[in-house]
Amino acid sequence: MTISIFDASHENASINLSDLSEVELIELLVKRHGAPLMILDCDIIRRQYRELQNALPDVTLHYALKPLPHPAVVKTLLDEGASFDLATSGEVELVRECGVPAEATIHTHPIKRDRDIRDALEYGCNVFVVDSLNELEKFRAYKDEAEILIRLSFRNADAVADLSKKFGCNPATAIELIKQAFDWGIRIKGLSFHVGSQTTDPQKYVHAIESCHAVFEQVIELGLPVLSMLDIGGGFPVSYMEDVTPIRDFCNPIRRALAAFPETVRIIAEPGRFICAPAVTSVASVMGQAEREGKIWYYLDDGIYGSFSGIMFDHGQYPVDAMYWDGERQPSVLAGPTCDSIDVIAEDIMLPKLANGDLIIGRMMGAYTSATATDFNFFKRAEIVVLNEYSAEQYAEPLIAG
Ligand SMILES: *Cc1c(COP(=O)(O)O)cnc(C)c1O
Repeated sequence: MTISIFDASHENASINLSDLSEVELIELLVKRHGAPLMILDCDIIRRQYRELQNALPDVTLHYALKPLPHPAVVKTLLDEGASFDLATSGEVELVRECGVPAEATIHTHPIKRDRDIRDALEYGCNVFVVDSLNELEKFRAYKDEAEILIRLSFRNADAVADLSKKFGCNPATAIELIKQAFDWGIRIKGLSFHVGSQTTDPQKYVHAIESCHAVFEQVIELGLPVLSMLDIGGGFPVSYMEDVTPIRDFCNPIRRALAAFPETVRIIAEPGRFICAPAVTSVASVMGQAEREGKIWYYLDDGIYGSFSGIMFDHGQYPVDAMYWDGERQPSVLAGPTCDSIDVIAEDIMLPKLANGDLIIGRMMGAYTSATATDFNFFKRAEIVVLNEYSAEQYAEPLIAG
């Protein structure tokens, strides 16, 4: 298979991948671009999207840009027929530049400035999320264009990020908002929720879906306009250090719960992490080393303030290892490059003896990593190198299964 490797200047070199091992490919990329790198493989974006779509065949998938807002991801998913979930005017701008039709987008931030609403409407995105009376009132001015999803909250203490703490209302408030919207002439399209990111128990979705179903029924009983959309949010899990249930099995109970809704109700989801987490491999190199209290400290050119920011912001635990693993392993510490003492990636990791310049590989580094990286201490963020980004015409060729 021949692939094109794009660099920042979009000049590309065709390289016959079948001749290269992964180690050789990484060495070649580091030679061309230097370290640190984030290697984004669009074939894995395609694989993840298709897997989730196969697991939820009747659900429209809106990729949530937040975990990895990269144009190559947007374009790859657009070619796959995906829809998109936006939360800010910056995300609106990104999908607009990538040629995403506005009908394929929804805006799901529950709290918006007037400017944010107008930016989205001007683009043509007209489905918004609301979870309070204060927010609903903002749409009196846009009642002819906008349609609203009411976001419900279902607390989930087990999730990596319990997104129902900060956003969402209870079913009784949802009914009150729907009544008020009716009085104001604002169209309510349906309900949404987010069970929490990296949710490993599908019953959280099942419970939320059942509660939403009860609200749908109540709306009918009250004689209010019938709801036509249910948005089951994101949260679908991936395997980091520990295995999670394969997505097909994970979605079985979700599909069964969704069967309670009539076919006229459109079901959508907002996956983020599941689509992009496995698609990025990080490459950092050893800048220097020291022995401290019986352990070898390796100082890398990427760390907590860079691509590994998810350790702080996302409770992330990424499979990290040396690229070469011969020789005996010894207790080691992997530290980031900044002068801050919290900048440590792994305190207790068994590594072979490394030389300065040796490479450290991080897996599952696509979601909530580079998106939250900083330039603290003037250490530049890792460059993102994109693999397997086919143009629409190239894409007509059969893909090689990963
Ligand atoms: C962050 C977010 C998502 C994506 O969640 P994942 O857990 O990454 O799938 C989806 N919808 C909303 C509203 C979000 O804030």
